[in-house]
Amino acid sequence: METIVVRESELDDYYEEAGRILREGGLVAFPTETVYGLGGNALDPEASAKIYAAKGRPSDNPLIVHVADFADVAPLVREITPVADKLMKKFWPGPLTIIMNKSDIVPTATTGGLQSVAVRMPVHPVAMKLIRCAGVPIAAPSANTSGRPSPTKAEHVIEDLFGRVDMIMDGGSVGIGVESTIVDVTGEVPMILRPGYITKEMLTEAIGDVTIDKAVAKINEGQLITSKEPPKAPGMKYRHYAPKAPLNLICGDEEEVEAELRKLAAQGKSDGLRVGIICSDGADLDGCADRVYHIGRRGDTETIAHNIYDCLRQCDADKLDVIYSDDFGLENDEALGYAVQNRIMKAAGGHVLNLKQKGDL
Ligand code: AMP
Ligand code: MG
Repeated sequence: METIVVRESELDDYYEEAGRILREGGLVAFPTETVYGLGGNALDPEASAKIYAAKGRPSDNPLIVHVADFADVAPLVREITPVADKLMKKFWPGPLTIIMNKSDIVPTATTGGLQSVAVRMPVHPVAMKLIRCAGVPIAAPSANTSGRPSPTKAEHVIEDLFGRVDMIMDGGSVGIGVESTIVDVTGEVPMILRPGYITKEMLTEAIGDVTIDKAVAKINEGQLITSKEPPKAPGMKYRHYAPKAPLNLICGDEEEVEAELRKLAAQGKSDGLRVGIICSDGADLDGCADRVYHIGRRGDTETIAHNIYDCLRQCDADKLDVIYSDDFGLENDEALGYAVQNRIMKAAGGHVLNLKQKGDL
């Protein structure tokens, strides 16, 4: 398939065509404030099937439906509950996805067979304009090959999906860099199924009591997910966000972690491995490994969130055998750091060394 890549300066000339492609069942990748999305008509089962095929995504992993206007939500759901209404008014447009019970017009091909639907209104101007031009709700998972780190630049999308989609709209580097917070409001107490930029505290302030899916809390504690208690967002159970080389996460105080990273890198190199280190801006580790990536200061979680996926992709391009990463002291972070830690922990897939507990890698 021929893929049209539209650069930032030409976007205005292409919205109409992009909208037409979407209405006619084609696929368009576009930037949002969280990560790039791979869009198709959410009401067209065949378009959803094309999204799964292009990404190589398991078909039980539901898609998030994107809208650009409040009036477009009601037809997608059985009911907008008072809690959902409050969340929409407070956080939309923005990086919050709300799970509600779906109406009959949303095909189960879009919801991975579920009777609920995930809905979000992105704030990115390109996303908004595209959805309005399409005139239909847009199902859009992250625009990466399934399992790879999510795309935060058009180049990442081109790397994964060129030749597999009709159009890629380049909106430059995205702002936040980690996916939206997902909150399920179909139960008695709203539950966070995936942490993101909108934190538990922000949600609690808006609607009162909010819980976090137990499986998500376990991921953040460095525990592996068990099939007995899978996460409630089906996608969270898959190996995710991970670079090709094994990623080992080192948790502890800044200086301790730096010393351990130096030691592990030296060991890896003496074993003949190509070693990468992911560390904070302040770490004095240049020259200790084949590649050293500085992705932000400890405490500056916005910068770390912005850089993490690009760094994990860089690890692939650099063809490393093993990666050691600082955990950036995120373990007690309840804000954006909680989301970043969730993604790093998933990328590490249980390979966590806690220097305070002296566990095993
Ligand atoms: P992505 O589109 O790549 O950001 O992934 C979307 C995430 O939303 C996946 O983890 C899905 O499992 C989750 N999700 C989408 N729809 C639902 C739903 N109806 N119920 C629970 N989780 C959902
Ligand atoms: Mg994804």
